[in-house]
Amino acid sequence: MSFQISFPGLLLSAAALLLTGPVAAEGPHRFDERTLETVRGLSEKALESDLAYEITRSLTTEVGPRLAGTAQEARAREWAVAKLTDLGFENVRVESFDVDLWTRGPSVFEEVAIVAPFPQPLYASSLGGAAATPGEGIEAEVVFFSSFDELLAFDDADDALEGKLVFINDRMVASRTGEGYGWANRKRSRAWIHAEDRGAVGVLIRSVGTSSHRFAHTGMMSRLEERKAIIPALAVSAPDADQVERIVASGETVRIRLQTSAGWRGPVDSGNVIAEVVGSEAPEEIVIIGAHLDSWDNGTGALDDGAGVGIVTAAAKLIMDEGRRPRRTIRVVLFGAEEVGLIGARAYAQARVDDGTLANHVIGSESDFGAREVWQLGSNVAEHALPYFDAMHVQMQHLGITRGPNEGGGGPDMMPLQLQGMPVARLNQNGEDYFEYHHTPNDTFDKIVPEEMAQNVAAWAMFTWFLADTELSFRATVAE
Ligand SMILES: [Zn+2]
Repeated sequence: MSFQISFPGLLLSAAALLLTGPVAAEGPHRFDERTLETVRGLSEKALESDLAYEITRSLTTEVGPRLAGTAQEARAREWAVAKLTDLGFENVRVESFDVDLWTRGPSVFEEVAIVAPFPQPLYASSLGGAAATPGEGIEAEVVFFSSFDELLAFDDADDALEGKLVFINDRMVASRTGEGYGWANRKRSRAWIHAEDRGAVGVLIRSVGTSSHRFAHTGMMSRLEERKAIIPALAVSAPDADQVERIVASGETVRIRLQTSAGWRGPVDSGNVIAEVVGSEAPEEIVIIGAHLDSWDNGTGALDDGAGVGIVTAAAKLIMDEGRRPRRTIRVVLFGAEEVGLIGARAYAQARVDDGTLANHVIGSESDFGAREVWQLGSNVAEHALPYFDAMHVQMQHLGITRGPNEGGGGPDMMPLQLQGMPVARLNQNGEDYFEYHHTPNDTFDKIVPEEMAQNVAAWAMFTWFLADTELSFRATVAE
């Protein structure tokens, strides 16, 4: 099967087992036979199942784009409630919260063009939180910065940016971990503040992302407490950024015209969709597994994060159909309004503070990095729980998964809970091509490989069972 070709680690770990004897017997923690039988069964069933793929197909086809706070996102919640109910989950419900609505206006393709010296259109997209241009648009001279740092260091004593368009060209480098994103993303987050403070009339950035296609990469700008952007800010596609760079390099002054009606529209309703597989012995103890239901408006949010919705839902469904229940409750949370600042995740954590069930959350994890294979098991748990995680890893080696460090997060929507002391873990996915598609019109269902998705579900089903069917605490201090 193509599965073995995709995961050479599978063959490697089988060979290692033959050479060194049964790794499980020498592991730091020993699972009982019944547990091993259960997780191996879950893995086998997951690898043969197309449920995650089918769920993601349904969401991205029947709902499509689902920008936070829009009617499309509300439709996604209705879809999720119906789907989770159909699949047989318990306690399916929506927890509502308010979100500030931002939209770009009538079209996902906004008008940006070079008007001098060589008139031609550019492909661009407003960044989340950016303002509209006045009525007929603006036209201004470009001040070109090859990096965000160059803008920060720029001496504007003579008001050199007054009335100008700031252009920032930082490039992002692809990697399996996606680690180049944070650095390249600084210009998307904060360039508007520096440009606006220096009198610029707008900001253009090279798309954050690693693609060479001509779609622009959108995403949220940083929000300041009592301040919203009053200037437009747009990303242009990488080939268009190259075009501007070439003209600037020739010594010509570039003038660009842009028109957008992006802006904030006021508070609206959003929500998190919650469903459970109620635990058999300690139903009040919660293992939370999540993904986010909202997406950007330009694609259909297949990789970000329709895939995660499919993966965690399918993993929990496989466990639900196991014939026996794990000790603890598995709570699937499909978060709303992630892309616009983890609004759903913050609302969820606040609601748990308010209802006093925060301490019941024993551990959490989110799938939100596309649909490529899981290659690493990471954790951020108390020292005493590490032998358990190491033993979990041994059982997951046939999927080509390595053991990662005990540091870092459990995914974006786990952050507010982690800040409140909840332990987290993460199944790290191969992200080498994630930023080819992420936040662009190219984030669509055809990018998902069914076999890779099935490997994710196998990993998630085993992982979730291990976390839910134990008495072990993952916290540093146990409140008795
Ligand atoms: Zn996401």
